[in-house]
Amino acid sequence: MTQSTPRPGRTIACPTCDALTALSSGEDAKAARCTACGGQLFTGRPMALTAARFDAHTGQSDVPLVIDFWADWCGPCKTMAPVFEALAAEFEPHIRFAKVDTDAERELASYFRISSIPTLSFIHDHREVARVAGAMFAGDLRRWLYDALSQTQEKEKAAPDAEQRTS
Ligand SMILES: [Zn+2]
Repeated sequence: MTQSTPRPGRTIACPTCDALTALSSGEDAKAARCTACGGQLFTGRPMALTAARFDAHTGQSDVPLVIDFWADWCGPCKTMAPVFEALAAEFEPHIRFAKVDTDAERELASYFRISSIPTLSFIHDHREVARVAGAMFAGDLRRWLYDALSQTQEKEKAAPDAEQRTS
């Protein structure tokens, strides 16, 4: 007999249409589809976050969110972009990856008091769990993500895979 406690289901905001889909306990989030648009709830790529989409993904979704604040003219941002994208595929569905274009989304950049880019902000349960400024290599970024994740209940679910990976 197993003693494992059932995990509660999760509510996940769609990266395409922002509708909320409630998953039952144990349902594979990576294979799940949005009940509104039918799109995949996890695409393996960062989504473009705007002020209009902000509440659905930070306030209503149960998935921790990491935001990359960037701009087109920022060299270090462009250097880090492929790293961020590769880690999105690796960390989904434990973390949702999003990018905010600070030129187009001045309101969000100002709300977060972004003073330099790239800046990464990790959000869970309506609060910023961690923040870091400056471009990072994959190994450092991965460690930073696990550290932030360890402050959320997602840690338990992500850990078994994590420990077998080398950085
Ligand atoms: Zn959708």
